[in-house]
Formats: sequence, C-alpha cells, structure tokens
Amino acid sequence: MRNNLRNFKVVPNMIFSYGAIKELPKVVAGINSNSNFSVYIVDHFFKGKKILPLQCLPEDLCYYLDTAHEPTTDDVDHIAAIIREHSRDLPRCVIGVGGGSTLDMAKAVATLLTNPGSSMDYQGWDLVKNRPVYKIGIPTLSGTGSEASRTTVLKSKYKKQGINSDYSLFDQIILDPDLLETVPSRQKFFTGMDCYIHCVESLSGTYLNAYSLALSQTALSLCQKVFLKNGKYDDLMVASLLGGQSIVYSEVGVCHALSYGLSHAFGTHHGEANCIVFDKLEEYYPQYVPEFKQMLAKHDVILQSGLTKGISEQLLEQMIDITLLMEKPLENALGPEWRSIFTREKIKELYKKM
Ligand code: NAD
Ligand code: ZN
Repeated sequence: MRNNLRNFKVVPNMIFSYGAIKELPKVVAGINSNSNFSVYIVDHFFKGKKILPLQCLPEDLCYYLDTAHEPTTDDVDHIAAIIREHSRDLPRCVIGVGGGSTLDMAKAVATLLTNPGSSMDYQGWDLVKNRPVYKIGIPTLSGTGSEASRTTVLKSKYKKQGINSDYSLFDQIILDPDLLETVPSRQKFFTGMDCYIHCVESLSGTYLNAYSLALSQTALSLCQKVFLKNGKYDDLMVASLLGGQSIVYSEVGVCHALSYGLSHAFGTHHGEANCIVFDKLEEYYPQYVPEFKQMLAKHDVILQSGLTKGISEQLLEQMIDITLLMEKPLENALGPEWRSIFTREKIKELYKKM
C-alpha cells in the first residue's frame, strides 16, 4: 500500500435517520450568519409535490433544477447570477436537495458566490481560493457519494471535469432514507452501481490504504446486499456515503476515466455511462465484472450498445483527451507509469467496444 500522505478533510456534520429532513430548520437556524435568506436548489422532480417537508420562507430563494441533463458550468454561472440579483448579500447557506446532479450544483453555486469569474475556471485540482457559502446536502438518490466527496462534477462545452477541492465538501449533510422511496428502480440501479464501481476502483487501486480499504469493503458489501439480496434504502444510503468517503482517501479508476468521455460525447448520465464502460472492463476488474453482470441480470437491466459505432474520428479523439485528463484516477488504477500502459490506442480500442 502506498503511503498516502495527505491532510484529508471530511464532512464535519451529519444527521442520519429516517425522517431526518425535519431537522433542517434547526440546522439552518444554527448557522452563524448575518444574512437573512437561504438558497434552496431542489431537483425538479419534487416541484409541486408534497413529499418534501421543506420550509422555504418568503425571503428565501428556491430554485428547481432540471436534471434531464447533468450540471454544466453555464448552469452554475446562471444560478449564481440569479442569486446575486436576488440580493447584494450572500445567503446564509445553499441547500442542495436531490441526486448527485443537484448536490453538485449546490456545491458549485456556493463556491462561485465567493470566487470570481466562471465556474469553468475552477475545474481541475485545488483551484478554489475562497471559502464557499455554507453548504448543506440532502440526497434524495444514493450512489454518487457527492454528499461526502471533495469533487463537484461539471460539464462544459469542452470537457467534463470536477472542481476537486477541500472547499467542495459539504459543511453539513442530512441523510434521510425516506427520501429515496420515489426513485424509479432503473435509476436506483444505475446510481447504485456508481457506488459499487467507486468501491471496486478504490479497492483495486494503488492509492488504497487501510482506511479507504475499510470504507470501500463495507460499502461494497452493502451494495451486494442491496443489489443481490434484499437490502433497504438505509443500506444504500450508507453505502453511498462510505463509498464517497473511500474515494476521497483513494481515487476512482479506469471506468470513471472512460465514462466521462461517454457522457461528454453522448450525454449519457454518469451512472449509466459507468455501467456501459464497466461491462467491458473485465481485463482491469476481473473479480468484479462477472458479479456486476449478475446484478444486471437480476434487475433485468439491458445496457445500450453500439454507441461509438460510426462516430467521427474527431469526436473519438475528444473522448480520449477527456479520459487522459483523469490523471489521478489513472495513476491510482495503473500506477505511476500509467501513460505508457493506457495509450491513446488502448483507449480507442476500449471505446470501440461500447
Ligand atoms: P441525478 O441527480 O442526475 O438524478 C437522476 C434522476 O433521478 C433525475 O431525473 C432526478 O429527477 C431523479 N431523482 C432524484 N431523486 C429522486 C427521487 N427521490 N425520486 C424520484 N426521482 C428522483 O442522478 P445521480 O446519479 O444521483 O447523479 C449523477 C450526477 O452526479 C452526474 O452529474 C455525475 O457526474 C455526478 N457525480 C458526482 C460525484 C461527486 O463526488 N461529486 C460522484 C459521482 C457522480
Ligand atoms: Zn461516480
């Protein structure tokens, strides 16, 4: 195991319980701020539905986020501009309620409110300079681990890349398994597999240490319980949290590096793109791909195929460029000499199978 000598940050405050969302007003009231308004960024699925007991006050700003596409840097810049128009003061907090897309949007908007320029300027590693507005994350879909991670994944015209920074961690998360009840089963599968793949990539990587090993092994066994036996919503929620924490301490790997290229080229959502890629990675993850195929079969999920058939060389080259931006995941997966192993030709060969 590599001596992973870094000063890791974790989310400092967490409430985990069925019904925990009811604690939100108390949490907001406890924030030390002179501001008189909060910003809610809520997945559009909840618009007009009474299932979320949120108490948005007249002075607050509630934005329903369309998650038909994954968050873009333009969306982040646009929402930050709406908030600046709403008030000259900063909000006391930004609260994200939804799946990974909404949680990432809340993190990115909170960051942009205290940092100049466009969110595009912060895609990369450790580029954020100023502490963001206080951020609260409330997942309604589990698997991405965004609630625990130091990344905020954004698409721009040219690339899909995270704002990787300690400032991307939430200050507070509220985990309420009741909120997962309405998730359609196919979505639950794809986002749940994101967590399974985080664990596999963490466990198979060179950055693994005893801490990330314990986290990812526990999260992996919870995913196996949920998708091969009959685990419950709270199991999945804990798996997502621990899987997310595990990759803070280690990293993702080959599957994520390739899946970003697919999402860029075809708009395929992250969980589904990961599944399409992972299905073809037996060479890298021989212990886990057969188990993954068992899960696909058990849940009657048939993956899209032939996506890259007939695509232009130019688009394929762009996908390869995006894959090669994932330096840390690729070093984690393949070691320091990854560039000589994971060549453009090798990446092209893998994409052509999808
Ligand atoms: P998502 O947030 O994109 O949501 C997918 C769908 O589920 C949407 O249609 C949404 O309306 C619906 N949904 C959400 N909660 C629901 C509920 N309770 N009931 C019914 N429908 C519900 O999906 P996701 O897989 O959670 O997130 C994907 C995003 O997360 C991608 O943008 C990906 O890049 C990002 N991601 C981030 C990290 C990180 O660490 N920051 C890690 C992995 C992925
Ligand atoms: Zn992921």
